[in-house]
Amino acid sequence: MENVGDPSRPNWAIVLHAGAGNFSRDQLQESGEPHRAALMMALKRGRRILQSEQGTSLTAVEIVVRALEDCPWFNAGRGSVFTHEGLHELDASIMDGRTLACGAVANTRVAQHPITLARRVMEQTPHVMLAGAGADAFAAGSRVRLVPNSYFSTPYRRRQWEDALSSTSDKFGTVGCVALDRHGNLAAGTSTGGLTNKRPGRVGDSPIIGAGTYANNRTCGISASGIGEQFIRHAVAAQISAMIEFGGRSLHQAAHLLLDKRLPQRAGGVIGIDPRGNILCHYTTSGMYRGWADSTGRLQTKIWD
Ligand code: ASP
Repeated sequence: MENVGDPSRPNWAIVLHAGAGNFSRDQLQESGEPHRAALMMALKRGRRILQSEQGTSLTAVEIVVRALEDCPWFNAGRGSVFTHEGLHELDASIMDGRTLACGAVANTRVAQHPITLARRVMEQTPHVMLAGAGADAFAAGSRVRLVPNSYFSTPYRRRQWEDALSSTSDKFGTVGCVALDRHGNLAAGTSTGGLTNKRPGRVGDSPIIGAGTYANNRTCGISASGIGEQFIRHAVAAQISAMIEFGGRSLHQAAHLLLDKRLPQRAGGVIGIDPRGNILCHYTTSGMYRGWADSTGRLQTKIWD
């Protein structure tokens, strides 16, 4: 149903993140300007889709996440962190809030755009998640772009991994997007390289529907970033949705309750949109790369408060 009645209510909205983390301004080269420019470029791609009559939230989410996967600054696609063995194993998921259809891949080593592979799992298989060698075999047969594993490497991530080999690391980062289209449909997607120096085979929350990603037209769309084990334990994305549906909470109340009262301190952040177009960004880390836009003309990116 198209929203034309209430002028204060946006008829489309989009929010993206490129990771919540405990980083300081000094750690970001040139005060984060290249990061902010990349966020804005991705946001405008999503906006263009949602402005058009036929644009769907699902496609906006996929296109935005692909743009962020291509950006070497963020921990997803090119620029993903290294595993303990010095490789890259990527996770992603996508969900359609209209139908609750969803797709996910875990530990793919060859898909240039894991989010697109996740969408193929959703649309071309009867399954929800494919992992490891099975995901890569499916990638080879489903006409997504394949790359050698070294494509994902960047000098910055290699240095981060080498430092992490001699100490424990809490370096993380992920990208994600939530969108509401003119037809009232919500979608959400998340893509990540996971945690620096992770054990090969480790799977975080990003490809787990209900933990790192969730979308339901009745409640909200959510994409998370942070310490995946905590987000899985607390089923963060699904719990936020359930608190709205069964607990009478708003999106903001639900996200604040869960992140502030249930998760350990500085565990991460979430972005979300509810069916009325209210946009949420909430994090308990020092910062979160994020941006949002809607049909009322809002268009903004931020890293810190
Ligand atoms: N949640 C991701 C994971 O644990 C990492 C992140 O969001 O930074 O794999």
